[in-house]
Amino acid sequence: MAVIIDGKALAKKIRSSLKVECDELKKDGITPKLAVIMVGDDPASKVYVRNKSRACNEVGIEYQEYLLDENTKQEDLIDLIKRLNEDKTVNGILLQSPIPEHLDINRAFKAITYLKDVDGFTPSSVGKLCIGEDTFVSCTPLGVIKMFEEYNIDLNGKDVVILGRSNIVGRPLIQCCLQQNATVTVCHSKTKNLKEHTKRADVIISAIGRPKFVTADMVKDGVVIIDVGINRDENGKLVGDVDFENVEKKASYITPVPGGVGPMTIAMLMHNVIKATKEQYNENSTF
Ligand code: NAP
Repeated sequence: MAVIIDGKALAKKIRSSLKVECDELKKDGITPKLAVIMVGDDPASKVYVRNKSRACNEVGIEYQEYLLDENTKQEDLIDLIKRLNEDKTVNGILLQSPIPEHLDINRAFKAITYLKDVDGFTPSSVGKLCIGEDTFVSCTPLGVIKMFEEYNIDLNGKDVVILGRSNIVGRPLIQCCLQQNATVTVCHSKTKNLKEHTKRADVIISAIGRPKFVTADMVKDGVVIIDVGINRDENGKLVGDVDFENVEKKASYITPVPGGVGPMTIAMLMHNVIKATKEQYNENSTF
């Protein structure tokens, strides 16, 4: 039976220690503030931003939401980002995805100033991550790395197989795992014989968005499983990418869905807002 990695409990612990850091900043007259931009009214995004606002409230971070109409023009979105870049009371800027298709999300991300890039999506953050410099690491990969640390799962020399190569999860995870000296393989929709890769993996991190895609016959005994996926099964139940019930019997460690990576992602956003605030007030920052 696997050890269940309790992302919910770990996220709670992290939020408590961030609250202490936030209180310290407030003693110096600094209240960290996160600005969240949402374009349109995607139902899942509404749930995500509500959870982010709750976490801010718990940690003591000020939270301000900007809800833009789904017909918003690209220039108006960029103008808002530029205003928030200039606003000294705002320490972090988050553009909630997805945004309507007529808008270019990469152009919008690029407009966010590096020092407020708490999602770690700007080319500056991504580039610094690739060359191993201190930067904002995108929240889900950072949450996964914190889980490894908390559970003393050493990636040194391990074969890590990442399923999915999205800009927000799979790609930054490659860099994060490389920094921990793992040997990294990335699989995607064009990968041939995917099972051959997963079968030899010491660690599998799945971020593809397909319910119960990773089955017990695809993994070896003792594997560590991190399930990033958030999906609905045929009964509308929230499930990950992994067939938890059967894979758990072979794994040494496994994350549940819900209660695994999801809460860690939000805790890492809080971490990045506090980090951004400190860097903005640090006169000697080389960040
Ligand atoms: P995405 O942008 O849709 O990327 C999915 C990736 O999976 C792509 O690289 C795609 O390959 C690959 N893929 C799709 N079907 C595949 C298959 N049959 N075999 C192998 N690879 C396949 O998704 P995302 O934004 O990274 O999110 C992935 C999942 O994680 C979703 O369920 C999402 O809801 C969840 N998520 C959770 C959190 C959290 O906090 N827990 C955060 C972010 C995302 P190609 O590149 O070839 O198309």
